[in-house]
Amino acid sequence: MKKLFAIVLAFCAISCTQDNFNHVQEFENIVADLASPEFAGRSLYQDGELRAANYIVEKFNEFCTSDFVEKPCFQHFNYPLNTTRGDMFFAVDGKEYKPFEDYVVKEFSTGADRTMPIVYALEEKFYTPDNFAANIAALKAENSFVVLDYDKFHTLPSEGDRYFKYLKDLNIGGVIFKWSKKPNYFKARAFFTTPYPVVCVGPEFPADAKEATVKFQNEFIEDYTSQNVFAKIEGTSDSDSCWMFIAHYDHLGMMGRDNVCLGVNDNASGTAAVLTLAQYYSQPENRPELDMVFLWVGGEEANLLGSRYYVENPLFPLENIKYLINLDMIGDTPDMLYHEGGPEADKGLELFMEINKAHGYFPNPHRGELVDNSDHYYFAKAGVPAMYFESKGEFYKYYHSPADNLEHFTSESYKRIFEMVKEFIQKY
Ligand SMILES: [Zn+2]
Repeated sequence: MKKLFAIVLAFCAISCTQDNFNHVQEFENIVADLASPEFAGRSLYQDGELRAANYIVEKFNEFCTSDFVEKPCFQHFNYPLNTTRGDMFFAVDGKEYKPFEDYVVKEFSTGADRTMPIVYALEEKFYTPDNFAANIAALKAENSFVVLDYDKFHTLPSEGDRYFKYLKDLNIGGVIFKWSKKPNYFKARAFFTTPYPVVCVGPEFPADAKEATVKFQNEFIEDYTSQNVFAKIEGTSDSDSCWMFIAHYDHLGMMGRDNVCLGVNDNASGTAAVLTLAQYYSQPENRPELDMVFLWVGGEEANLLGSRYYVENPLFPLENIKYLINLDMIGDTPDMLYHEGGPEADKGLELFMEINKAHGYFPNPHRGELVDNSDHYYFAKAGVPAMYFESKGEFYKYYHSPADNLEHFTSESYKRIFEMVKEFIQKY
């Protein structure tokens, strides 16, 4: 903590001597705006995702007024999305559980209004890939909740979607997934529904509960419309090559009517950073040599659907992208800089690491394997030099929960990344 304080002081000297546009203040303002309850967690609830997209357009137009800036446009795409509606109620042996605090509803769950006995299927023997369905059928739980061990369930091998394959044909009353930690909320697999309710609980769930009551509604939307926001700054040269910045602006929305995930770190932070970068480079004195493309994608939380759609339907040839930078979750303390990319991004990564080291921005950079966890993924798979940055620190524990809010947010990582990116663009 002491070390962090020293870094913060040293850093203030750099960021406080910047241009008249106070980008750090703007960054914080945008994060606060996008994370306000008005946007209802930037999903389909109260049109929060669409309204966040409109907000990005407004901000971009307010910030970027030079005549070499192209006005933003939308790229629409559709997908099926399961949602929870109305009041949420879940009780075990007469004790009411608190939404998010004690349980979350799995994103593919149907609604229900029923009280049923509980049977347990926690032992290792249930989780054999070929016999899982038969093992569960033997419990004769047509009208019962079956308590499954979430970690063991996830050891079941599956080529495509593990949930769908194992849960779709079970003739049971419901599933209670017991997690080994407090369960996170997701919507990555909201594209199908189970014919019964599925609820996740934490490790404190009793080992001998008798019955549970569940009451909530779902709505399956066949053709939900989301949109990517695309904008461009024309560089001074007439080269086709360009820089690209990407951040997802959508988040998890609500669980039922009253429980919202505001998504400050994930990813109001990256959304705001791409806006302040656009502002910076749209100033005539900072105008880049190459074009700069800014893409704010929707549908990330629904399984990277916006970035995937863009890669399948690019608005200019993907080969023109000199380097793509994806910012997702940079509102945490700068303890560790997590990064990930394909082999094409290696050379750029070396430069990033040199810059990082020279300034002592992040003490612990850590490279992760390229996986489908954020919006660089489909670009990297298509051979684009694409790099993903995330800051991981004190607030990571609030990932995908309502506690990812303004109380657990700092702009310290953002300040460092902003400087790193500027130097990278100059030197690469
Ligand atoms: Zn997320």
